[in-house]
This record gives sequence, structure tokens and C-alpha cells, in this order.
Amino acid sequence: MSNDSASFAPRPTAPDLAALLGPSKLPRVGTTIFTVMSALAAKHGAVNLGQGFPDFDCDPKLQRYFAEAIAAGHNQYAPMAGVPALRQAIAAKIARLYGRAYDAETEITITAGATQALMTAVLALARPGDEVIVLEPVYDSYVPSIELAGARPVFVPLDAARGYAPDWDRVRGAITPRTRALMINFPHNPTGRILREEDLRALEAIVESTGLFVISDEVYEHIVFDGQPHRSVATSPLLAERSVVISSFGKTFHTTGWKIGYACAPRALSAELRKVHQFMVFAVNTPGQHAVARYLEDAAPYQTLAAFYQAKRDLFVAGLARTRFRLLPCEGTYFVLADYSALSDLPEAEFAQKMIVDYGVAVIPVSVFYERPFEGRVVRFCFAKKDETLRAALDRLQAA
Ligand code: PMP
Ligand code: GLN
Repeated sequence: MSNDSASFAPRPTAPDLAALLGPSKLPRVGTTIFTVMSALAAKHGAVNLGQGFPDFDCDPKLQRYFAEAIAAGHNQYAPMAGVPALRQAIAAKIARLYGRAYDAETEITITAGATQALMTAVLALARPGDEVIVLEPVYDSYVPSIELAGARPVFVPLDAARGYAPDWDRVRGAITPRTRALMINFPHNPTGRILREEDLRALEAIVESTGLFVISDEVYEHIVFDGQPHRSVATSPLLAERSVVISSFGKTFHTTGWKIGYACAPRALSAELRKVHQFMVFAVNTPGQHAVARYLEDAAPYQTLAAFYQAKRDLFVAGLARTRFRLLPCEGTYFVLADYSALSDLPEAEFAQKMIVDYGVAVIPVSVFYERPFEGRVVRFCFAKKDETLRAALDRLQAA
């Protein structure tokens, strides 16, 4: 049969399509800064400390588990909520670490990374006209998720003058009868801030006196430094009753490309979440879930993660101290912020471009985590990199 183009209707031209499409549902969304910076880094041969992903591989044992799961025939749809062995392993981990007994059958859902868990939680909870509070600087997927739900994001800044501490009075002040949920992320990307006991108590007081739900993004739960514990909202019975707790194995097992995460919430909340999840992905890749479930039988990989990254933080921080960047505290995550005002007056986005071209190091301007134009002089470095990569970046920065 002839395959020439005459047998097809003519393709509409670009302007026709734009007219047909009409206003975008997400008019302010373009390619994410993480992708843009990685592409620019590759183009200019810069050391990429921008996008947050490890440049080293995951454990060969975990790779073998994935291959063995495929060879064992785990290649068809997983149960909608996730492979039972993985849900049970997560339930056991949370019970051991945070003292909350989630029911693996009804309260834990395996998602395609934390990104899908976040979108699913927001779509399940926020209704058109609702307000959802986010803390600025805010991770890039939160606001589009809220907008797709037809809800309105309400921005409350973290207190930069107090090490990006959450300002619970301002959170309380932002609550209206329309407020449906609060989205939090600790350890916090990009500031590295962790929660204190008093933060949990303040949050409890807010949740107790309002009908607020909490969506708690805890993807960096195992990357907390200097002997501090991770204070999950799951450690608080009151908060756990009102929260969706989200995490991801991408950060914990150096497998950002596997896209396996999870959402834990009380039964009624999980039931709503699963209604969305079911038609967003139905289920997440099966062999990967089996591999992670098996790998979780050994607690060492996640229990040693904080020390592993603390050594990288310390290496990087010691090297950067010999430059004119001024480091900000880093309590957790694999990111550290640095003020560059001694080096340049340029706005952050321009300085980040200059760093790629002139210094040969890619970073993320912190202004991209703010809704409004933001006048800081701070960039984010990712230190989830081989020591040799960090040293190469430091050599370049020290010469700058
Ligand atoms: N939340 C935060 C704060 C993150 O930093 C990231 C990824 N870097 C995600 C969610 C997304 O996680 P995943 O890759 O598992 O979708
Ligand atoms: N969350 C990662 C970061 O903050 C990037 C993930 C992505 O590229 N979507 O750098």
C-alpha cells in the first residue's frame, strides 16, 4: 500500500494548532530549569552540579535483583496499589523508624516516583476553588499540580533570615475557609533545612485547630546530617491522621531513573488517592518493585546514606570555603546553597549562565523556586556526585 503523504489529510500549520489549542492549562510552565541547566552544562562541557541526580551508579546487588525479577517472570502488571512485598517492607521501615503502623494493604500506595505521588495527592484532595499553601522556595512540581486540580496556590515564604525556618505564624495567617491543604518538604530542597521538634508541635497546633490536610514530601528522609533524626510527620499520631507522607527510592538507593516512590495515608485518604492513581498510571513497573522490596530486607543501605552524603557535603563545603562563595547551612538533602554576592552583582539566572560559560560549573539559581521575581544572590549546588567530580568543580571554582 502506498504510504505517500497524499493519502493523509494535510497537516495543520503551527498557527492553526495554536488557535485550536487556545489558552494553555499551564501557561507559565516551560521546560524545567533542571533540564535546561543539564543541557547547557553538556553543551559547554561544564561540571554539572545543577540537576539533582547522582553521577555514580546504584549498588550492583540492586541491579542484579532487578534483572532477577525480570528473569523470574515479574513482567506483567503489578497490583494497582503496588507489589505487596514492597508495601510490607515500607510499612516495616516506617514502623521501625517513625513508630507509625501503616496498614500495607490499605494505607500504602506505590507510585511512579514522588512526582506522581505529589500530583496524585493534590488531585485527590484539592477541589476547584480550594487553596493549597506552599512554602517558598517551593519545589517545581507543586504549583502546576495545584493548578491542574483547579485550586489556587498560596505562597508563604520560609524565613531566609532565620536559616529558612518555616514561619508557622505566617502559615496560620494564610489559612482561609478555602484552605484545603498545606504542602511541606523537609529535608528541604533547595535549602537543606530540616524540621525541629518545635516545628512539628506548631504544625500539630495548626492542623488540630483547622481542617487542613498535610502533604509531606519526605524524599530526602534518609539524608539528614550531624546526628539529627529525620522528623517525619508520621512520628506524630495527630499529623499522621491528616497527612499524605510521600517518599521515593530514587534518592535513597541512587536510582532516580527507576521512578519508584510511595504515598502513605490513613485508609480513607488512601482510598481517594488510589482513585486518582488507578487512572493516572494504574500500577508501577513490576520488576523494579520486586527488586526494591528484596533490597529493603537489609537496612544498611539507607541507614548508612546520611554518613555517605555527609562526607560529600564536608568535602564540598571545605573546598568552597576557599572561594568567595559564602556557604549557607546544609542540614540535609544533597544540595547546598551559596551566596555569591562577593563575586557578582548579576541576578541569579544570569550568574548561573555565567558560571557555566566562565567557570565551567553548572548550578541552579534559587530564584526559580520562587513564584514572584526574586532578588537574591544565591545558587544551589548538588553534591550527589563522585568525589572526583566534586574536586573537578572545586578546582574550577577556586580558580574563578
Ligand atoms: N520532591 C522533591 C523535593 C525533589 O527534590 C524531587 C526530585 N529531586 C522529587 C520530589 C521527585 O522525586 P521523584 O524523582 O521520585 O519523582
Ligand atoms: N528534583 C531534582 C532537583 O531538584 C530534579 C528532578 C527533575 O529533573 N525533575 O534537581
